[in-house]
Amino acid sequence: MVVMDIVKLAIERILYPWMEKRKGNRIRANMRELQASEKLPPDSVDSLRIEKLTRLLHVCADKVPAFTDLKNRQDAIDSDPVGVLHSLPILTKALYMRNPDAYLAAGTNPDVLIKNRTGGSTSEPVTFYLDRHTVEYYEAARWRGLSWYGITPGSRSVMIWGNPLEMDQHQFWRFRMKERWLKNRIAFPAYSLKPEAMPSYLNTINRYRPEYFYGYSSALYTFATLMQKQGLKLKFIPKAVVSTSETLHDWQREQIAYVFGCPVVNEYGARDGGMIAYQCPQGSMHICVENIWLELVDEKTGKPVGNRETGVVLVTDLNNLVQPRLRYRVGDRATRSDAPCACGRDVPILGAIDGREDDMFLRVDGQYVHGHAFNHVARAIGVLEMFQIVQEAPERAILRIVPKAETTRAEITKFTADIQALLPGTAILTEEVTDIPSMPSGKFRYAIRRFPLP
Ligand SMILES: [Zn+2]
Repeated sequence: MVVMDIVKLAIERILYPWMEKRKGNRIRANMRELQASEKLPPDSVDSLRIEKLTRLLHVCADKVPAFTDLKNRQDAIDSDPVGVLHSLPILTKALYMRNPDAYLAAGTNPDVLIKNRTGGSTSEPVTFYLDRHTVEYYEAARWRGLSWYGITPGSRSVMIWGNPLEMDQHQFWRFRMKERWLKNRIAFPAYSLKPEAMPSYLNTINRYRPEYFYGYSSALYTFATLMQKQGLKLKFIPKAVVSTSETLHDWQREQIAYVFGCPVVNEYGARDGGMIAYQCPQGSMHICVENIWLELVDEKTGKPVGNRETGVVLVTDLNNLVQPRLRYRVGDRATRSDAPCACGRDVPILGAIDGREDDMFLRVDGQYVHGHAFNHVARAIGVLEMFQIVQEAPERAILRIVPKAETTRAEITKFTADIQALLPGTAILTEEVTDIPSMPSGKFRYAIRRFPLP
C-alpha cells in the first residue's frame, strides 16, 4: 500500500520554497547545478573547476595572510592555476592549527560565519569557519548523490546516529519534533543501543517505513547483526542504507545489504573537508569534483600517486572563500582509480578509502556505545591535544590523554567524568601521556575495542 507522505510533501512544497524565498537558501539550486554538471562533457567540467580554482587562488593572494606569497604570482594564477596550487606546501592540521586566524580572508566577520570543529579523533583537533554558501554546496552534493537512488530532501529516513548528549528534556523534545516534522526522520541512538530494545526499534521502523537509513558504518553493521541474531526483519524494501563518517569494510557492507535487503551506499566526507565522494549505483566512489580539488599524494615524497596506488588525501575546497585551506590533509588515505564506471558518469573515482575507524563499545549492562560518543565529549570540551580509549573487556578500559599546555586540572577531571558516564561500571584507567602512537598502518584510532562482541 502506498501511503502519501504528507510530511515529505510539506517539506518539498512548502518548507524548501519558503527557505529559498525568505532566507535565500540555495541547497536545491546547487543540487540542480551539480546534477546538470555531471552530465556535461569532461572538458566543460574541467573548465568550471579551473574557473573556481582561479577565483579561490586570487582570493588567497589578495586577502588571506597565510597565502601572502601568492601576491606576486597573480599572472601565474591566471595562466596556470593548477601548477600554482600544486607548488604550494601540503597543509597539515598541525600547521593550520598553529595560526588558524591567518587563513581567514580579510574583511570576513567570523561572527556571521559557521564555526565548526573536530574532536581529538583525527589526532589533532581542528577549529575552522565556513559560510552558508560552502555548507549549501556540501548539502547539495549529498542530495545529488542520494538522488541517484531516488531519494529527495523530503524523503523519510531513519538515522542510527549519535543521540545528543547534554540536552535537557525540553531541548530533546524540540530536537525530536524538528527531526520528525522538518526533516522527516527519526533517530535511533548509536550512543546507547540496547539489544533488548531491538524488537521495539523494529516495530517503530516497520510502522514508519523510511525510504532510507543513514548512519555510521559500525553502528549500521551492529544494528544489522542484532536484527539477524534476533530474527527481526523489515517488512518493506528501503531504497538504500547510507553509510557515513567511517571506512565501510566489505564485510560490513555485505552484512548490512543482506539484512536490509537493499543497496548500501558509501558517503565519504570529512567534517573539515566537506563532501568528498559519493557512491553511484554501480558501486564507484565518484569524487565531488565541482566542490573540491582532490589530490592523492605519496606520504613521503608528496608526489601524486599513480593509478591503483594509495596516497594521502589532500582537499582544496573550491567554494570556501572565507577561510581557505589549500591542499589540506584530511587524515585519510585512498586509492586512485582510472577505471571508467558503468554508470556513465564521467567523473574521476576513488578506489579503496581508508578513513576513520570507530568501534562499538559494550557496557557491562549489555548496552552498545558507538565510539563516536567519546569524540563527541572531546569535541564539546575542546581542551585536549588528543585522546584514545581502548576497551580491553566490558569491565576494563584505558583512557590515554594528551593535554594541551593550557588544559586545566578541572577540565581533565570533567573529561574523564564524562567518558566514565558513557561506560558506567567499566573501570577506566586514565593515563596522561605526551603522545599516542598511530597504528602500524600509520592511521590514528581513538576508539578501539579489543574483544569480540557477544
Ligand atoms: Zn558510477
